[in-house]
Amino acid sequence: MMKWQRALYQPCLPLGEHQTRITECERHIRLSREAACEGAVLLKNEGELLPFAKGQKVAIFGKAQIDYVKCGGGAGDVTVSYVRNIYEGCKMKEDKLELFHPLSHFYEENVRIQYLQGGQLGKLQEPDVPQELLERAASFTDTAVVCLNRFSEETVDRKNDGTDDYVVLSAQEKKMVEQVCAKFTHVVLLLNVGAMLEMNWTRKYPSLQAILMLWQGGMEGGLAAADLLVGDVNPSGKLVDTCAKAFEDYPSSEGFHESEDYVKYTEDVFVGYRYFETIPGADKKVAYPFGYGLSYTSFSISDISACDNGKKIFVTAMVTNMGTRAGKEVVQLYYQPPTGRIPKPARELCAFVKTPLLKPRERYEVLLTFDIADMASYDDLGTVKKAAYVMERGRYRLHLGNSIRNTVCLSYTYELEVDRIVKQCVSYCRPQRLGERLLADGSYWNVPDQEVVHRKFPCKTVCEYREPQQEPRLLEEVAEGQLSLEEFLTQLSDEELMGLLRGQENTGVANVGGMGNLPKFGIPNVMTVDGPAGVRLHEKGVTTTGFPIATALACTWNLPLVEEIGRAGALEAKENNLCIWLTPALNIHRSPLCGRNFEYYSEDPFIAGKMAAAMVRGIQSQNIVAVPKHLACNNKETNRMESDSILSERALREIYLRGFEICVKESRPKMIMTSYNRINGVRASENGELLNGIVREEWGFAGVFTTDWWNTADHGEEVKAGNDIRMPIYDGVALREAYEKGTVTRDEMAVCAKRFLKMILWLE
Ligand code: BGC
Repeated sequence: MMKWQRALYQPCLPLGEHQTRITECERHIRLSREAACEGAVLLKNEGELLPFAKGQKVAIFGKAQIDYVKCGGGAGDVTVSYVRNIYEGCKMKEDKLELFHPLSHFYEENVRIQYLQGGQLGKLQEPDVPQELLERAASFTDTAVVCLNRFSEETVDRKNDGTDDYVVLSAQEKKMVEQVCAKFTHVVLLLNVGAMLEMNWTRKYPSLQAILMLWQGGMEGGLAAADLLVGDVNPSGKLVDTCAKAFEDYPSSEGFHESEDYVKYTEDVFVGYRYFETIPGADKKVAYPFGYGLSYTSFSISDISACDNGKKIFVTAMVTNMGTRAGKEVVQLYYQPPTGRIPKPARELCAFVKTPLLKPRERYEVLLTFDIADMASYDDLGTVKKAAYVMERGRYRLHLGNSIRNTVCLSYTYELEVDRIVKQCVSYCRPQRLGERLLADGSYWNVPDQEVVHRKFPCKTVCEYREPQQEPRLLEEVAEGQLSLEEFLTQLSDEELMGLLRGQENTGVANVGGMGNLPKFGIPNVMTVDGPAGVRLHEKGVTTTGFPIATALACTWNLPLVEEIGRAGALEAKENNLCIWLTPALNIHRSPLCGRNFEYYSEDPFIAGKMAAAMVRGIQSQNIVAVPKHLACNNKETNRMESDSILSERALREIYLRGFEICVKESRPKMIMTSYNRINGVRASENGELLNGIVREEWGFAGVFTTDWWNTADHGEEVKAGNDIRMPIYDGVALREAYEKGTVTRDEMAVCAKRFLKMILWLE
């Protein structure tokens, strides 16, 4: 195959067996459904209501049984050829279930009409259930399934002022739930949602015996729901976000909409379970804890032993399926640091393993390992050693179990007699005016304002222009080792160099732009494409596989499965001649209100980083560039281009960057996308301390930074900060002006171009 054949010529070269297309193929759709099943979390199952016994009569309530939300909107959407809803899924199980069809037909018709009237996916009104149907359904069966859904999208956050019913029930939904729960003895609740809802209300209804959190399960999510209801698949998902009883219980709730200009991350490192498991009294606010999820069988975790070799800790345990059905278990390891002087979360996830499908009574030994150094805290204030990762002296305990609350404390402990400096860093990205910061005892510390001087990163490269004497030499010659990249770059004029640092026009089916495009030197125009729930080809006449949303994938806790999805998506990108998949997205679920939570994995940076690394491995195994995004602190959509995320350097490093760090170190992504927002006053894409200081120098990132699309930053500043490419296509005026004024040099541009060309050379 010719180098860059696909980028250059957009050939029609199917990648499947016997020249068939693999895009949206059966195998990928099956994988999507498998992941939808595996990411669903069984939150409640009183009286073993689920799985339904063979022949169970069921009445399904709620418009959400028809109006299935496969994923959220915006860049994270996917264009698919069909979506299967919950009713369709249940109909396919009619050998096992008896359905009360007139009720579902009522919803089908109602949804059809609401759509005709301009209603939008996942935002339709919950209709009143006609009394006559309710009576007939109740005489048909004593068992009901209630379906609720939610839709959210890029650029729009949810509100918590009573005008938006995302996290709570709407009045209409409440009415329906009340009617159903009063009429039926057994009720199952199915949640087709993209982020956490309040769950306390569910406790009011004794007949509501089972709750299945389906998330948004991709194009066959409705079929997956039915697989789980009838027990064709045993649920094995576990929560990756704490489910609080009430929305106000999240520490981020109060200040989320305080201002459109800034967000103060005053809860500091106490995000998600780090808050609920640490702050006195907060444990009472939890409806379902982090890591929690039931199964149709039960498991024991026994024979636990642990040791260390001075660098790593190793824990082994035996998992036994104690029930009568095959199932999978997730074994989770948390560490508990000594209290010490630096306030610390009481628990932090440090390793996990998901078992394969275990038959009844089958045993499986798991091994969990992690680096001792990962238990360090970042000491931004200098309590032990300023700007260093430190482990305070004392006893580090380990807790092993199948949720953060259901663990046993290991007899093994790791002990330090003196404080240990794990890694000395440099203070970067500090806040000037944070105001206050939550401490582990629940009090706030008033943070004094500080003057901050930002470090500059002088350019050490020289790239003089040498006018070519003969024909221009081609990038392919660099690929073949006939010319160094440094030499190659010298023949590019300033204007040509600048062209490499900005987006290029679409070719083929691409719709979010290309990069490169300098035919004179044989540089192909390589196309980007959106994700993460699939390869998003919008209005291009090509449909692709719609996978479950990132949150659902994280709830699988199944890294090989996620890697497989990365591989499948990358193949779909490749088959469509696209080179760069703008996936995965791994911002932190700081608040259930963020409109893009569905694209992101978790409240916990460890699992988010592990998931992202698996995804990147899968994608890049096919020579498609993966692009973890959005670095960093894009945890709110409102005014995302200008909003300033104000937080301590410690919270930045331990929570908001940690997932990226894991991903970079484990799977070496070729590209990272910076976020729109400012971080402590400096835009992410202009933030040299973040890009050069932390990500490149400290973590060893050797790839390319791209901006997010159409940000409002200054291109010259971006180049100086090491943000290599500005997307999408634009005339380049800003950079030219900066160059002409002398604020950006040719050498600085060449550094960015070189990194970019290295990435192109890696492409097939
Ligand atoms: C989103 C990115 C996306 C890009 C390209 C932006 O609006 O924030 O996640 O990759 O658009 O579509």
